[in-house]
Amino acid sequence: MRIRVLGCYGGNVPNHGMTSFLVNGSVCLDAGWVSGALSLREQEKVKDVVISHSHLDHTCSLPFLIDNNFSAPGFELRIYAIPEVIGSMRDHLFNNHTWPDFTCLPNDLSPVLKLIEVPPEEPFRVNGITLRAIRVSHIVPTTGFLVEDKTGAIAYSSDTGPTERFWEIVNRTRNLKAVITETSFPNELQDLANVSGHMTPQTLGRELRKLKRDVPVYLYGAKPRHLARIRRQVRTLKRKRLIFLTQGRTYRF
Ligand SMILES: [Zn+2]
Repeated sequence: MRIRVLGCYGGNVPNHGMTSFLVNGSVCLDAGWVSGALSLREQEKVKDVVISHSHLDHTCSLPFLIDNNFSAPGFELRIYAIPEVIGSMRDHLFNNHTWPDFTCLPNDLSPVLKLIEVPPEEPFRVNGITLRAIRVSHIVPTTGFLVEDKTGAIAYSSDTGPTERFWEIVNRTRNLKAVITETSFPNELQDLANVSGHMTPQTLGRELRKLKRDVPVYLYGAKPRHLARIRRQVRTLKRKRLIFLTQGRTYRF
């Protein structure tokens, strides 16, 4: 599996911190930074986007991805998420106020945008990739995703504080290659992390005790202002193969 990091806090371009990953060149995992990171030709190949939650740093390039490609021949975008997240995007994003409702454009019969509800934990298949949404613990309804192709599986937690079900499913995933999770705030801002449903390095240390598999763990999410401190505190966890993702890089699993 190829995962290209289109956007991540805590990377080498911390001011471009919206979260988004491109899987095998065609399926986006979250969409905080798709239109900004990909050329128009690359954007045309993205027909399927999986969304973890409604926060703007995971969704804000969706309007421009559609707008940039609206008149391309045969263009269609399918967005997959749990029902609460789809509902939020209908009500607050594609609501004809924030952005046009592209689920009715150019007409009701053949719209360019399809919003597809996926039940939590039920596998669904997109372009040769099998995904499962797994609920995590953020301040709005949020899921991580288990992402599998014929070469293996990776688990992406999305934004979360301490959580259980995600780790249960990760621990019993065959052919698991890696986990991608977050660390947003330094230990000094634990209260803020708690109320906002995020992790600090010390929370991460406790969460990683729930991970029973010997796989590399990749991190995103470190707020740019606290990046150096978060990196130092993550090092004190003394866990091997605990790696900050680099924006723009492609990882092969
Ligand atoms: Zn969030």
